[in-house]
Amino acid sequence: MTAKILDGNALSAKLRESLRHRAAELAAQGFQPGLAVILVGENPASQVYVRNKIKACEAVGVHSEKYEFPADTPPEKVLNKIAALNADPKIHGILVQLPLPPHFDEEEVLEAVSAEKDVDGFHAENVGLLAQGNPRFISCTPYGVMEMLSAEGISLRGKEAVVVGRSNIVGKPMTLLLIGASATVTVCHSQTKDLAFHTRRADLLVAAVGKPKMITGDMIKPGAVVIDVGINRQADGKLCGDVDFDSAKEVASLITPVPGGVGPMTITMLLANTIESADRAAGK
Ligand code: NDP
Repeated sequence: MTAKILDGNALSAKLRESLRHRAAELAAQGFQPGLAVILVGENPASQVYVRNKIKACEAVGVHSEKYEFPADTPPEKVLNKIAALNADPKIHGILVQLPLPPHFDEEEVLEAVSAEKDVDGFHAENVGLLAQGNPRFISCTPYGVMEMLSAEGISLRGKEAVVVGRSNIVGKPMTLLLIGASATVTVCHSQTKDLAFHTRRADLLVAAVGKPKMITGDMIKPGAVVIDVGINRQADGKLCGDVDFDSAKEVASLITPVPGGVGPMTITMLLANTIESADRAAGK
């Protein structure tokens, strides 16, 4: 069997077209969606991510503002900017690009963002709402995965889902969404004893680890749907996922590539969250 490859770029383009219409409608009502992005320090990967997010905003008609601070900025300065953005009616979403420099308390900064503008879905209130099955903002990467599955018409009810990784950004919200979709979910992490035992049982396997090609074809159930969230830079400069694509595609029925799978969907869902937030502001 050779798996069907899920094209995250194509699905993103389709979704962004409909987001562009929604943004234009909101702008016509005087509620142009607005996203503020805060970047602290000079991490090259973060700079690329921020640039891509701003470009994506421009393409769909979301107003964007970028605030860059040097790495040695006192945290108070960033917290003051967040407070000003929380009160700014032009801004419906605030994103703090992670990681922050070591002298920052990441949790304090994320909690400083108004839960109503937390388009990354990292605020404790939004995590709590998601855990209760009543989400306000869903963090963008797991949200993108759910959209990809839904676009393929994949029903998760009663399916065995295995999530490898338990981070607050990907693994945990992914797990909550899959429970919400009535899958039976197993979560694996660095202390899991026999990873392959679990992955081989998965009808849906989500890898979010950050270890290049660690999930190989022999660890996958024949016919499984494999979602590769990992983004790893190899020695030759090329990107690869957490799944060994070449061996996995011979076993899976559906698989996401890296790049061009989950990555583009993450930015698309950030735009969707910002537009949903502007929608709520317009309804007030
Ligand atoms: P984290 O480093 O925060 O979490 C990694 C998780 O993997 C942890 O829960 C860790 O377990 C687990 N893990 C580590 N080693 C193993 C192992 N040998 N076996 C099983 N589990 C293991 O990473 P993130 O969740 O932030 O990101 C994961 C990957 O996804 C990265 O490659 C990142 O670049 C990518 N990513 C991609 C995005 C996209 O848009 N496509 C967005 C966000 C992230 P433990 O908790 O025990 O330490």
